[in-house]
Amino acid sequence: MEELAGTAEAGRLVSRYSRTRVVEALRVVLADVRRALMEGDAGAAAREGWVLPSYLLTEAAGVLSAQDQPRLGRVLNATGVVVHTNLGRSLLAPTALERVVEVASHYSNLEYDLEAGTRGSRHEHVSGLLAELTGAEAALVVNNNAAATLLMLSALAAGREVIVSRGQLVEIGGSFRIPDIMRQSGARLVEVGTTNKTRSSDFERALSEETALLLRVHTSNFKMVGFTEEVSIAELAALGAPRGIPVADDLGSGALVRLPTFADEPAVSDSLRAGADLVTFSGDKLLGGPQAGLIVGGRIWVQELATHPLARAFRVDKMTLAALEGTLMLYRDPEKALESIPTLRFMSRGPAETERLAGDLKAVIEKKCGGLLELEVEASEAKAGGGALPLLELPSHAVALRIVEAGQPGVSELAAELRRAPLPVIARVSKAALHLDVAALRPEELELVADAVAWALSRVGREDIEPGRP
Ligand SMILES: *Cc1c(COP(=O)(O)O)cnc(C)c1O
Repeated sequence: MEELAGTAEAGRLVSRYSRTRVVEALRVVLADVRRALMEGDAGAAAREGWVLPSYLLTEAAGVLSAQDQPRLGRVLNATGVVVHTNLGRSLLAPTALERVVEVASHYSNLEYDLEAGTRGSRHEHVSGLLAELTGAEAALVVNNNAAATLLMLSALAAGREVIVSRGQLVEIGGSFRIPDIMRQSGARLVEVGTTNKTRSSDFERALSEETALLLRVHTSNFKMVGFTEEVSIAELAALGAPRGIPVADDLGSGALVRLPTFADEPAVSDSLRAGADLVTFSGDKLLGGPQAGLIVGGRIWVQELATHPLARAFRVDKMTLAALEGTLMLYRDPEKALESIPTLRFMSRGPAETERLAGDLKAVIEKKCGGLLELEVEASEAKAGGGALPLLELPSHAVALRIVEAGQPGVSELAAELRRAPLPVIARVSKAALHLDVAALRPEELELVADAVAWALSRVGREDIEPGRP
């Protein structure tokens, strides 16, 4: 270690990083080599020069540079899943992003009333816009829809009963389960109906002095077909309204516009018009904005939620509010929303457009990797996304990629290398082909995907490259 730390190359590393970090990196590298030697390949180690100072220092430089790469970073989404929860759900529209940069890099009137010169509310900035776009009296924004649901149950039903259909006691993923959230809030769950059929009369029989809320949950991630029956919001409202019991609708995705591709998705305004007192939905699913939980509805109910202590715990950051305001403003002109909100833009592409994009992608890959691959444009079924409408299929196209030479490594190895590329590409492997779906790619990203494919191809099957090492 002393010898290594005294070299000129180590000196260069110290001036760039710090002495502590360089010594630590050398320690890591030495430990690796020591382990490899103990495992018995001393001959290979000597032959390949593992034990030379130059090797050790180069490795240490690699470790240091890798440490300085951010862990959270951009990827290219070639999965064909538009609202992909693992890949960050929705992308912000350019104007929404501008709002974030402005608000995050300067002081703002976040909680300041410029008219009165006194303290204001952070919720004022978007609640008017949300009310305008959905027809609600009032609105409140929290961190995500899970928080919105927990806040609603805690504020309106703690220690009392909430009636829900058995067919809607869903798990949304990431351990969000309606019965668990209910328990957490202190509300008592009253299940009515059966798995496949619940009628208004089931709800009616369960009503009691203890009933605090009638809840409908959108079964976002599965569909029941066949012999089924659900209770509509209008029917719930007919039971609740005369008794002063609020009706809530956890919509999940909550569309503000209706695209042909998700025409069956209930719109937020439909729920309110049908009589829901509160509607909750996500900011980053079909809305195409930042992660947020949006709550809209009657003034008295929203007010109850806003003044509950959990509202403070779930309160949104200024960057979220800025992004949300920027996104919602686009909805005043639905055509503009379709054009500039990436989630909506992706979902409104027709097959002609995706076929053209896939053709362009095939051409750039051919140009960069000609000969090594067999490429084909194929029709595909893209998805809206796990967090939104997992069953909804969007007609799309993909470039199917097969490796030509026999004895070459398989496409799953290529997929793994694509994930390690300087700008990683997440693709889909099926039927011995790697599929690069264009549903969630922008035209200007096609070239970048092709670069990553060329990079990955240069690495598969090369045993001299250790996986994960640049
Ligand atoms: C997605 C979803 C949630 C959770 O929303 P997040 O914004 O991810 O917290 C809750 N309920 C339903 C019905 C959903 O679809």
